Amino acid sequence: MANHASKDFLVFGQPKIEQPEIDEVVDSMQKAWLGTGPKVAQFEQDFARYKGVDHVAALNSCTAALHLSLLAADIGPGDEVITTPMTFCATVNAIIHAGATPVLADIDPDTFNISPERIKEKITSRTRAIVPVHFAGRPCNMEAIMAIAHANGLKVIEDCAHAIETEYHGRKTGTFGDFGCFSFYATKNITTGEGGMVIAQREEDIERIKVLGLHGMSKDAWNRFGDDGYKHYYVVESGFKYNMMDLQAAIGIHQLKRIESNWHRRSQIWSQYMQAFEGLPLGLPACVEKDTRHGYHLFTVLIDQEKVGISRDQFLSHMTEKSIGVGVHYLSLPEHPFYQKSYGWKTEDYPNAALVGRQTVSLPISAKLTQQDLDYVIQSVKNAINF
Ligand SMILES: *Cc1c(COP(=O)(O)O)cnc(C)c1O
Repeated sequence: MANHASKDFLVFGQPKIEQPEIDEVVDSMQKAWLGTGPKVAQFEQDFARYKGVDHVAALNSCTAALHLSLLAADIGPGDEVITTPMTFCATVNAIIHAGATPVLADIDPDTFNISPERIKEKITSRTRAIVPVHFAGRPCNMEAIMAIAHANGLKVIEDCAHAIETEYHGRKTGTFGDFGCFSFYATKNITTGEGGMVIAQREEDIERIKVLGLHGMSKDAWNRFGDDGYKHYYVVESGFKYNMMDLQAAIGIHQLKRIESNWHRRSQIWSQYMQAFEGLPLGLPACVEKDTRHGYHLFTVLIDQEKVGISRDQFLSHMTEKSIGVGVHYLSLPEHPFYQKSYGWKTEDYPNAALVGRQTVSLPISAKLTQQDLDYVIQSVKNAINF
């Protein structure tokens, strides 16, 4: 406990906030334009350029992006949507909010990404879409997944919450599927505090998402209160309140400018971890696949009590005692009582995800980490497992 007091706690996934975004937020405050406006439009443009796409919409979360993508794909009650058990609960909750039934396909034990073979086994006459998650920033096998989708007439909605920078065979993630959904939550690769973005192949899908994201109104508030005369709005759908604010976009515009330098820093941290832990009895992430670019969002180690001598949860406690914030990404979704009760999911039916979920620990990989922080984390991991 003395350690807690003597050393600042290393907050897991702490974002790197710099002066330009602070000034930009202040600028919004001084102009007193806080809601959806010119800064959101600018952030959308910048993000579209970064991803090399035409149709994007900024929203207030990736969860909203997933939800509206499913609605824009006309997915609803009676439809089944296949996704992975190794993801954040928001992925399946969005499917449920769209009225559809989530169906899980187990992961590949090496990559932790959804297995195309397991997807094939779960396709029924009701299946309408696949939601692959590029776990930790490693791209899914999009060649196989898109082939399955085409062969079965399925939509693909990529959950790119970990994977803004990720590429697969020379192409950026989020541009394979009908939709790609991104998160700017505080711990993600770039942040707006809370925030999300969706990209779509078809312009009409983005138009529909923009309408659904702001109450189902035909014109957004920015156009409504501009200086070119009052315009009536008409409600054309029963929509949601999912729009991004200029206050959020103010942060995002500058975060996006540093996306590559932060990625580079995380890739260095990743390499240092890999080198430092080589030969230790820890499960390390699979090597980066050739002809892909990893997003380096999470660095996970597996703690197998048989090999390491302590349990995963003991390891978590040890790191926390050393004032190091660690994470668990994730307990497999069937571990949660709601899904067991509602869908009859059993942990043991998804053995690969179950094993990862019970052994995994995410170590800090924020671009904010100093070399001193990193050395301290590495030493603490070695101490925890007596090396
Ligand atoms: C963070 C996360 C989400 C949700 O993102 P929000 O922006 O917080 O809604 C969805 N899927 C995955 C895999 C995530 O990690």
